[in-house]
Amino acid sequence: MNHFRLPGCLIIEEGACERLNEILADCVPGIEEKRVVIVTEEALIPIMKPYLEEMQRDLPASELYLIEENSFDEAMELAKQMCMRDVEVVIGVGGGKVLDVAKYAGFVAKIPYICVPTTLSNDSLASPVAVLGTEGDARKTLKCAIPAGIVVDVNVIMGAPVSHLQSGIGDTISKFTALYDWKLDAAYRKDRVDDFSYLLSDMAFSSLCYNEEKSLKSKEFIKILTQALVLGGLAMEIAGNSRPSSGSEHLFCHSLEENYKEIQISHGMAVALGSLVSCRLQGRDDSLLRSVLEAYGMDMDPMNWGITKEIFTDAWMRAADTRKDRHTILNEVTLTQELLSEIYESL
Ligand SMILES: [Zn+2]
Repeated sequence: MNHFRLPGCLIIEEGACERLNEILADCVPGIEEKRVVIVTEEALIPIMKPYLEEMQRDLPASELYLIEENSFDEAMELAKQMCMRDVEVVIGVGGGKVLDVAKYAGFVAKIPYICVPTTLSNDSLASPVAVLGTEGDARKTLKCAIPAGIVVDVNVIMGAPVSHLQSGIGDTISKFTALYDWKLDAAYRKDRVDDFSYLLSDMAFSSLCYNEEKSLKSKEFIKILTQALVLGGLAMEIAGNSRPSSGSEHLFCHSLEENYKEIQISHGMAVALGSLVSCRLQGRDDSLLRSVLEAYGMDMDPMNWGITKEIFTDAWMRAADTRKDRHTILNEVTLTQELLSEIYESL
């Protein structure tokens, strides 16, 4: 059985940042005496200034560390500095880029990492992986540890761009096809899926799809989306891999990222688009996915994202090669130009 850890504290509430120090003290006993690094980025200072100042006031041995990019080198430099200065806790305050750097640096330095997101764009929030830039535009998904604590202030997330929240929705609904592919993989390997992580991932999907709140900028919806993303991350931690959250729709996204860097589409939108296609390839009804995407105003016309029919078909043809160790529906159907053209026209 895979050994997993769960976050020691998980707070999702309105105004959590206003009582952040109290929450941090509960999460890491004695934190006010410890050496702490608070990682964020310059652009967030104007928005998060009051909370950052208060944190620094109540954590006298803390210091602010501003990151410039979410690269492997940046994470290693931060880890090195934290090791050299005997830092005991790292807190990430920001979006996915800041959080992935802080998460990986905390993992390398072997210290607890607390995550305070300012937006919700994918399920890396609570996942045991960090996506970091390596060489040039290349990025790599690196295994690490899930956060020791997750603090989500619903009021702060209310200020996040709608496109980020839509990306978070896309990453959640993509579990519909990822879970199907996971079962295909298990059958192919004569193995079995981890039932509990399957259940958690399925719950994440269902909680978002069957909720009545369709206003993106409502506090109720933000709580539902946060819970879904956290459940998705925990499912990966329990499974010991990303299969509960990542199937052929993610391979399409990787293929776009690797082969068509000029396409500007968020991770969540790309996997949502991928899910609509994977669903067809899996021979399943995509009406539930479509209704959710429509309800949240998500534009699924590939042309509007600069994805021409040629790019679309080529990206799908090369998708399986992005992770050759993964068995998905792409290994069980014959992809042809005609089939992909027909799907493209129908989107
Ligand atoms: Zn994803």
